Amino acid sequence: MRIAFFGSPGSGKGTQAAALSTGYSLTHISTGELFRAKVLDGTRIGRRIGDTIAAGSLVDDITANYVLFKAIEGLNRFLVDGYPRNVAQAKMFDLHLDNLGTKLTCALFLDVPIEVAEERLTLRRTQRQDKVENYRRADDAPAVIHHRFDVYRKQTEPLLHYYSERIIRVDGTGSSAEVTRKIAKALQEWE
Ligand code: ADP
Repeated sequence: MRIAFFGSPGSGKGTQAAALSTGYSLTHISTGELFRAKVLDGTRIGRRIGDTIAAGSLVDDITANYVLFKAIEGLNRFLVDGYPRNVAQAKMFDLHLDNLGTKLTCALFLDVPIEVAEERLTLRRTQRQDKVENYRRADDAPAVIHHRFDVYRKQTEPLLHYYSERIIRVDGTGSSAEVTRKIAKALQEWE
C-alpha cells in the first residue's frame, strides 16, 4: 500500500497520517518533518530550507523530490504526508514510481474548509505561545499562515484535478478519532 496524503495546512494531516501509518503498518514519511530536521544540521542547504519554511513558501522541487525519493528507497508500504505539494512534484513522483515498477495505491485528500483550517492553526499558535516550553513553529506566525494558505490554493489544490481518477476524499471535520474512522472506512471501500 502506497499512499500520498494531502490537505491544507491545519487540515490535521500530520495527526491522521501518524494514526493511519500505525493502523496499517505503513512507514510515515513527512517531508515537512524531514526538512525541519535538515534545518537543524546547520549546513548551507539546511539554512536555505529553513528560510523557505519560515517564509511559508515551498522548498524547490529538485530538493523536495530528491529528499522524498531517498526516503522511500526500498519501501513498499508507505504513507507520504505533505508530498507532492504541486503538480510538477506529482508528475515526477508518478514517473519515479513507474521507473521502480510500481505505482501509488491512491491519493488521500483530507477535506477541511479553509476557514476551519485557519481557525485550527491560529489556535495551535496560541496554545504554543502559552506553553513557552513548547516548540513554536516559525511558520505559524499570522502573516506566514496567510501566505501558506495562498500557496496551498495556488499550488497544492490543483492536485485534486491531477489525481481525480485515484483520489479518496475524506471529510476532515469532527474530532480526531472520528476523522480516523472516516479515513479507515473510505480506505476499506476503496480496496
Ligand atoms: P503544513 O502542511 O502545515 O504546511 P508541513 O510540515 O507539511 O506543514 O510543511 C511545512 C513546510 O515544509 C511547508 O510550508 C514547506 O515550506 C515545506 N515543505 C513540506 N513538504 C514540501 C514539499 N513536498 N515541497 C516543498 N516544500 C515542502
